[in-house]
Amino acid sequence: MTTSKSNPWERAQAQLVSAASRLTLSAALLERLQKPDRIIEVSIPVSMDDGRQEVFQGYRVQHNNLAGPYKGGLRYHPQVDMDEVKALAFWMTMKNALIGVPFGGGKGGISVDPKKLSDGEIERLTRGFARELAPYIGPNVDVPAPDVNTTPKIMHWIRQEYATIVGSDMPAVVTGKPVEHGGSLGRTEATGLGGFYALDEYLKKTGTRRSGMSVAMQGFGNVGSYLAGYLQEDGYRIAALSDSKGGVFLEEGSLDLDAVQKHKDGGGSIRDMGVGRAVSAQDVLTLPVDIVIPAALENAITEANADAICASIVLELANGPTTREADDILQKKSVTVIPDILANAGGVAVSYFEWYQNMHGEVWTKEDVFKKLEALMRPAVDAVLETAASYDVSIREAAYMLALTRLSERA
Ligand code: NAD
Repeated sequence: MTTSKSNPWERAQAQLVSAASRLTLSAALLERLQKPDRIIEVSIPVSMDDGRQEVFQGYRVQHNNLAGPYKGGLRYHPQVDMDEVKALAFWMTMKNALIGVPFGGGKGGISVDPKKLSDGEIERLTRGFARELAPYIGPNVDVPAPDVNTTPKIMHWIRQEYATIVGSDMPAVVTGKPVEHGGSLGRTEATGLGGFYALDEYLKKTGTRRSGMSVAMQGFGNVGSYLAGYLQEDGYRIAALSDSKGGVFLEEGSLDLDAVQKHKDGGGSIRDMGVGRAVSAQDVLTLPVDIVIPAALENAITEANADAICASIVLELANGPTTREADDILQKKSVTVIPDILANAGGVAVSYFEWYQNMHGEVWTKEDVFKKLEALMRPAVDAVLETAASYDVSIREAAYMLALTRLSERA
């Protein structure tokens, strides 16, 4: 259960108020950002394989559309609730403003453990959710995308269901689709690759890159698996990885990522790989490494473990992985936090490229997509670092200040 201290929506509000207090923003803009534009809550009846009917709760929060159509992922997870979705939608508004893509912020999800559902049940659940959402989404209105436990196939089902309801097939109604069904090349890799560019740019600009820097990462899904690959290719030592059940730590050497992926594809957990030392999903964050990467869910770093973090850099690939109290502790320890709205913006950047290609009937090569992604991420990091230096604030505070400044130019 979310305690008040770790409630992500309360945290999002505190982040907003703190950054706004350093700027001269209109009271109306601040008031608008403190509440989502629209909240949608739906019941989705699903015929289960055993003949029973089960009803699931689905959510979509349209936080703000000053910069363009609402944009953000859909998450299938038992922890999904309204406060989580509201916070995630707010962070999308900030992220999109920060990197300058013409989208507002939205997010959605279903409170469900998809691991307990068959493929057919997930498809019926998704199609039911799409039918409920159809009146509220559209290429120029609100454009969902994948998030935790949602896949290109799930996006394709939503597109199909939407087409049936509105009587016209519009690929740009969702992003993160399979490439053969209007998806963009490079979307799958985008969040991990964007995180790689963010870290690389930070290390270059601060002159702090050392050879063989070691990395521990929590979460080895879409985001984590690609990021680990890019880092290893560039000479980082992948010392530890975990999934929800736990992970492993190597004192020396780098993990064999192909073997990890194969083991995961076979249904195993990383902790049972039989290499290195087994660690819990939580303990992976406090190992003696240079860089820690939370790439799973919110509230991974809290006041309970922040003091035990040994790394000098936390690269936030998950959304909202660090609580406010933990953030203060990390700052006192001089741990650099490269915040979520900057570090994981590569996903929505390439979602924007996909939407643009769909809207203009274009198909870009993967090289093109990666080049455009890099051209978006590196200057965003530079701008945030400059703001942090000139106001003498943390990188997170600077990222929010920049995002708010850009939003206020549109208000
Ligand atoms: P995913 O479902 O592909 O992978 C999630 C990973 O986290 C899995 O390895 C899972 O085992 C692990 N995990 C789940 N619960 C855990 C727990 N309690 N402790 C440790 N590990 C746990 O999801 P993803 O798309 O890789 O997303 C991961 C994070 O990145 C989320 O916070 C998401 O919001 C964020 N994000 C994703 C994208 C994207 O494009 N997919 C974009 C921006 C941000």
